[in-house]
Amino acid sequence: MTRKPVTQVVILGGGTAGWMAATALVRIMGDLPGFSVTLVESESIGTVGVGEATIPQIIGFNRLIGLDEMQFMRETCATYKLGIEFVDWLRPGHSYVHPFGSFGIDMLGIEFQHFWLRGASLGDPASIDSYSIAAVAGKAGKFGWPQPDNHKSPLSRLSYAFQFDAGRYARFLRGMAEARGVRRVEGKVVEVGQDAETGHVTALTLDNGTTLAGELFIDCSGFRSLLLGQTLGIPFTDWSKWLPCDGAVAIPCERGGAHEPLTRSTARPAGWQWRIPLQHRIGNGHVFSSAFMEREEATDILLANLDGKPLADPNNLRFTAGHRTKAWAKNVVALGLAAGFLEPLESTSIHLVQSGIARLMSLFPDTGFSQVEIDRFNRETEQEYVDIRDFLLLHYSATERDDSEFWRYCRNLEPTDGLKAKLEMFRSSGRIFRENNELFTEASWLSVMLGQGIKPEAYHPAAALLDERETRDRLGHIREVIANTVAQLPTQDAFLRQRGGAIAPGELATT
Ligand code: FAD
Repeated sequence: MTRKPVTQVVILGGGTAGWMAATALVRIMGDLPGFSVTLVESESIGTVGVGEATIPQIIGFNRLIGLDEMQFMRETCATYKLGIEFVDWLRPGHSYVHPFGSFGIDMLGIEFQHFWLRGASLGDPASIDSYSIAAVAGKAGKFGWPQPDNHKSPLSRLSYAFQFDAGRYARFLRGMAEARGVRRVEGKVVEVGQDAETGHVTALTLDNGTTLAGELFIDCSGFRSLLLGQTLGIPFTDWSKWLPCDGAVAIPCERGGAHEPLTRSTARPAGWQWRIPLQHRIGNGHVFSSAFMEREEATDILLANLDGKPLADPNNLRFTAGHRTKAWAKNVVALGLAAGFLEPLESTSIHLVQSGIARLMSLFPDTGFSQVEIDRFNRETEQEYVDIRDFLLLHYSATERDDSEFWRYCRNLEPTDGLKAKLEMFRSSGRIFRENNELFTEASWLSVMLGQGIKPEAYHPAAALLDERETRDRLGHIREVIANTVAQLPTQDAFLRQRGGAIAPGELATT
């Protein structure tokens, strides 16, 4: 059996997805004899230009590509992110944090939330947030790296991610990829050649007449999905019934207000507003449903709720929540927006690019393009989208808000089967199970279910093995240890200065 390895890879698109794929491919496969990666992008088309908040998995990607964290912080004007603060989502005036990492500590072999539920039933009013070092540090504007081996410290249970300037991140990755031999070609793809027999893509033709031949094509063309959607005709599964937001206005503004290492999401009458504090500016956006609000009104709401002076014109975006039924067809693999988009509420898109790259690496084809590997890639990708969709839907459907048409629509949404099962289990006994190795952990589900007002009717019977006094003492002790640890952490700004991750003062307030 002689199956020839794929050595000629062509990536269409130079947004975050394209440059992440290029960097990872040369890092992992670059030493294969004859291996080449060509990336084509068009400055006249540009990139989506948003995508600033991430989740902790990105640390694994950064390590894989050999990125120096402090250089990265400086060059992308990045800040740390310890979670997302959800304001007004349950009802106006209410807020909670979905933190990274875990809550409290498990006791007697039982998950922590059961002891917290028992404490609450005994009248202990402390919120679940006060048992998360990420939530407490985030609200205090503090930051420190996790200490995974320091088992006695709550820092062993901390996780973090980044908030960065999307344009600078793509440029930073481009620099790394080009230094490792990726060839960048400027031009607009105007024609896609296909093999008459197999339908495989054979070459891309640019507006200047150049032809780029390849064996494997990675479609990172953004919402256009030029190869997977337009050329191969892979249909789009529309999930806007569950995720009704389909528009966004984004605008950066001058730094003002607090600079906690948290992304903030504030519910608005027909959607929500993001606030992402970076080192040089704040990224803002209003995600809304056009069925319930005009773009003009969405823009006015955004402009009325900025911390500082706008630094650019509003960037208008449209999207549909959902994904391509197959992310890999024939010799085309789609990553990023070309494969799907589930709205930015939990900052999952860049992660989906990353997990798509990881999956592609583990199933990297030869020129035979075996269907069994393609099918596995597609099954896993679809499951990941389904699990994330259900988690996002939780935020919208579990709300007490009934102050606008949009929220009345959301609160009457029928949960999907996966979400229904999670809700029933949690309501019944406070238990949470992570299915299919899904992205969001038990701690994430716990924080958002509680934050959105879901109340368990019972807790694990073994939690009652601790008597009332011991329950209160242990809970109080955990809160105290977390508060004391946070008190000793530096502010995020001081941490960045001390470690060499702060930008030069002259870079403030530039886009
Ligand atoms: P794009 O950035 O659109 O890049 C497409 C590339 O394809 C461009 O280089 C373009 O020039 C090229 N191209 C297209 N057609 C052609 C052609 N014919 N010829 C040549 N080149 C072509 N993600 C997060 O993780 N966190 C967030 O906080 C977040 N916020 C978001 C907010 C909004 C409102 C939106 C819409 C998205 C957000 N995302 C977020 C998603 C994130 O922006 C994207 O996942 C990420 O930027 C990757 O985009 P992309 O590279 O797939 O597409």
